[in-house]
Amino acid sequence: MLNIKNLHVKLEDEDKQILKGVDLTVPAGEVHAIMGPNGSGKSTLSYVLSGRDGYEVTEGEASLYDHDLLDMEPEERAAAGLFLAFQYPVEIPGVGNLTFLRTAVNAQRKARGEEELSSGEFLKLVREKAKTLQIDAEMLKRPVNVGFSGGEKKRNEILQMAMLEPKMCILDETDSGLDVDAMRLVAEGVNALRSPERSFLVITHYQRLLDHIKPDVVHIMSNGRIIKTGGPELALEVEKNGYGDLLAEVG
Ligand code: ADP
Ligand code: MG
Ligand code: MG
Repeated sequence: MLNIKNLHVKLEDEDKQILKGVDLTVPAGEVHAIMGPNGSGKSTLSYVLSGRDGYEVTEGEASLYDHDLLDMEPEERAAAGLFLAFQYPVEIPGVGNLTFLRTAVNAQRKARGEEELSSGEFLKLVREKAKTLQIDAEMLKRPVNVGFSGGEKKRNEILQMAMLEPKMCILDETDSGLDVDAMRLVAEGVNALRSPERSFLVITHYQRLLDHIKPDVVHIMSNGRIIKTGGPELALEVEKNGYGDLLAEVG
């Protein structure tokens, strides 16, 4: 379903190559983790997939089902079922969380040719999903992420994800800065969304998130490439020995 072939990406304004031939396939229903040292290009990969400005694809392909992602605007990618949970969720002063969610959900439904939700239907759905993430009514009314703690922002990202029902969810270091309880909540939120039609790409610097979100496949990224792919044991190996041995293996 997500298919990336030989992806090369450079910065738009600088002569700096960041991704140097990424190959990655994530089949429907699977959870893949990407781990790797800081600066290896993990975030860049997620930004390029979501269509953020500032990057130039110089070679390669990326598709989601039969959509050529690289050809699409960011909104079109979202409508096609791509969702990116950011490492640093943005604050949107002046826009209430509920209003934001309702607008996003209805735009998504419209793009898919589905009826908009009535306000009753929407409220019922959002309350149900917020409850499992321990997001209270007051947090739903506040402006998006403004004054939220780190953990609240991450839970709010997972709420957005749950409401939009994407096909491909990318989580970029969603665990960073979270204490164990907040991380467990986030992980439970993600696990509740696992389904045969939905895939996840979980980007994480540390193994601990993967104790809670069990990946089917683990990829190690270094210097703009995936240098090793394996099962969950690969994450444990990194936890135990660091990246040094793996990097030495590939030279
Ligand atoms: P990771 O998420 O694995 O830590 P990143 O994708 O954030 O890695 O960064 C990969 C490399 O590209 C780093 O060397 C980083 O400094 C550089 N980089 C990424 N985006 C930019 C940018 N907009 N301007 C300058 N350097 C960037
Ligand atoms: Mg980083
Ligand atoms: Mg990063």
